Amino acid sequence: MTNKYKYFVANWKMFGDLKTVNSINKVIKFSKSRKFNNAKIIYCPPYTLLNSFVQKLKNTNIEVGGQNCHQIDSNGPFTGSISSKMIKNLGCKYVIIGHSENRIEGETNSIINQKIKSALNNNLKILFCIGENLKEKRTKKTKKILNNQITRGLKSIRNINNIIFAYEPVWSIGTGIIPKQYDLKNNILFIKQLLQKKFKSKNPKVLYGGSVNHKNVNELRKINQIDGFFIGGASQNSNKFIDIIKKTFI
Ligand code: PEP
Repeated sequence: MTNKYKYFVANWKMFGDLKTVNSINKVIKFSKSRKFNNAKIIYCPPYTLLNSFVQKLKNTNIEVGGQNCHQIDSNGPFTGSISSKMIKNLGCKYVIIGHSENRIEGETNSIINQKIKSALNNNLKILFCIGENLKEKRTKKTKKILNNQITRGLKSIRNINNIIFAYEPVWSIGTGIIPKQYDLKNNILFIKQLLQKKFKSKNPKVLYGGSVNHKNVNELRKINQIDGFFIGGASQNSNKFIDIIKKTFI
């Protein structure tokens, strides 16, 4: 482990309603019962549940983040959007930016750059998602893409202390397929070295995301350059989520 904590980000995407909020009781109990100081859990539920999660997780060591934000800092005529200021105001500490499911909808590196600046201005920590798609992988463009996403997404940003990177190969998200161990280690190291060089960051945090589950985590945890996991599907089931956390530390 190269960083103090291992991060476990639960990205609930467009799932969950008021009834599902109590399903995280088990995770709260688990977080209080074990020697938990090396794990940091961050729940990112849909906007409709952010306030419920913040209230429920008060007085716990579990934190809450939004799944996206608008690039404009505070308020404005943007129907259907919420700003980083609003997310912060609710009591959230984090926001996901650059998820491939939003990039596919037209979110460019330049918009992502504005979103990151807006979130930093509002004192949010950022979960910055990067990763290549299948075509880019097949044509061996992975490193070029990662370099582009980092360079453009972080244009004129100097300090990345409040940014946690999530390497998420698009072809791995929701497919049950994870990268080969060698490739994954190589890409995580590439990202870390780039960040060390570009930002003089001593200890950049890079998570892995893409079909992480309670079975493949045994394999994934062997790559000790990975600072944690960004988990979609499997994070909605508290038993599976807890299992992933437990197995990471075995
Ligand atoms: C994700 O939401 O970014 C993700 C990694 O999803 P899943 O774990 O379901 O592949």
